[in-house]
Amino acid sequence: RPIIIWFRDDLRLSDNPALNAAADSGRKIICIFVHDEESKGLRPLGGAARWWLHGALQEMNDALRGFGGRLYVHRGAASTLIPQLAADSNAAAVYWNRRYGAAERRVDEAVKTALKTQRIEARSFNGHLLYEPWSIKTKSGTPFRVFSAFWRAAHEAGEPGQPLGVPSRLNLFNGPCGQTSTTAVQLADLALEPSSPDWAGGLRSNWRRGEAGAQAQLELFLEEHLNEYADLRDFPDRSATSRLSPYLRFGNISPRQLWHAAEAAAHATNPALQRNLEKFQSELGWREFSYHLLYYNPEMGSENLQTRFDSMPWRTDAKALRAWQQGKTGYPLVDAGMRELWATGWMHNRVRMVVASFLVKHLLIDWRQGEAWFWDTLVDADPANNAASWQWVAGSGADAAPYFRVFNPVLQGEKFDPEGRYVKRWLPELTDVSPSVIHRPWQLGSKVEAYAGRIVEHDLARRRALDAFKGLG
Ligand code: FAD
Repeated sequence: RPIIIWFRDDLRLSDNPALNAAADSGRKIICIFVHDEESKGLRPLGGAARWWLHGALQEMNDALRGFGGRLYVHRGAASTLIPQLAADSNAAAVYWNRRYGAAERRVDEAVKTALKTQRIEARSFNGHLLYEPWSIKTKSGTPFRVFSAFWRAAHEAGEPGQPLGVPSRLNLFNGPCGQTSTTAVQLADLALEPSSPDWAGGLRSNWRRGEAGAQAQLELFLEEHLNEYADLRDFPDRSATSRLSPYLRFGNISPRQLWHAAEAAAHATNPALQRNLEKFQSELGWREFSYHLLYYNPEMGSENLQTRFDSMPWRTDAKALRAWQQGKTGYPLVDAGMRELWATGWMHNRVRMVVASFLVKHLLIDWRQGEAWFWDTLVDADPANNAASWQWVAGSGADAAPYFRVFNPVLQGEKFDPEGRYVKRWLPELTDVSPSVIHRPWQLGSKVEAYAGRIVEHDLARRRALDAFKGLG
């Protein structure tokens, strides 16, 4: 009897604990992906993430074909579909790697229960995190709300395990499997990629989706950027970060693989560069912390972690929101970031912080509006990182930046993009502007007319935000 591997956010063959366990059993393996837009509470993917998913599934299918198998794609509610497919294929077991959102966990629980009544084994594994959220606890046994303490405790829990390789032998099933069922579809039937209008040109030219793309990106990062990571990671024109976030989001690579590959590379080159390694690993730690928060605060994507923010007098301003989304606020760093996002599906972390702060504080627009826009436009749109980061910037999060700390987009630009190279890449209107005024082009008056005027003035906006904050209980 075969084992079903139910692929979800783990679209890779290497370091895939569920797949490895199935391979070790020697049984035939049926690889299934269910596109579930029916189960209650599951958040539909945004446009850019759907585009990524298509490429990752296609690449996964090609990789499985290399082993003589294929990926069976179905559409429907996983809680009924998986047990049905298991019964139809006379499976001995269903294996999967865990997910951590509340709705996802409910679906997985329902699948487990149904399989149990059918006397089919259900086994889940950790393929997505360095540490299970419940394995890191305060001394009194409660979840963490402060990153530094969380990360210290994680260190005490020990080094993350070594990643697994691609199984040397995969006994993959290749026959008909639920193909007569109405839920069986071709990948193209899911219409994950845009057709008309085809807005994905910029995404295609910036990304190679899937596991092979992840490995290539990792190699590039280790060779060229890890050794300067701590010093340059905040400069958006330097491309000094790994750009591995969408691969992590869809599990085209695992955090354990990153952890250990970075460690090996840093030691191989120069032990003095420990600082870069630690900084990089601590960013992986922020991802862990976001998942820890999500696990213990399932409503984090829609509700303030600090409830006093519930009475924040957010403004409704469709025009300002649109200007922000389109990169037309008149602040070059904000606009460059929003245009980079639209064109490539990604934005540099420093710029994400600045644009998010601008929306929440300068425009006094609810962080949930920004979170939703990012959810739709980011290729790495992640249920834990996106919500936790928005709440961090808004000040409503667990271990958040204080609300009264308002990023000044001009000073941030002058500090982190001093030559204006990043800004010029995305705002051709400013090509000829000198670095001395590139982040405050309004000082040039009509000479940069093609560029938008400021939609708010910094000092006024800052005061308005602080007044609103003072009114909170
Ligand atoms: P690197 O610097 O190379 O870091 C390596 C990995 O560590 C990243 O791929 C990511 O998985 C993790 N990481 C790095 N920084 C953070 C962080 N601050 N918080 C959590 N994890 C981090 N990240 C997402 O993956 N998905 C999102 O939807 C997302 N939304 C964000 C929204 C806002 C408002 C902000 C301020 C940040 C958001 N981030 C999000 C976090 C961060 O900006 C990205 O993870 C990072 O820019 C990805 O680039 P990289 O892979 O080159 O990062």
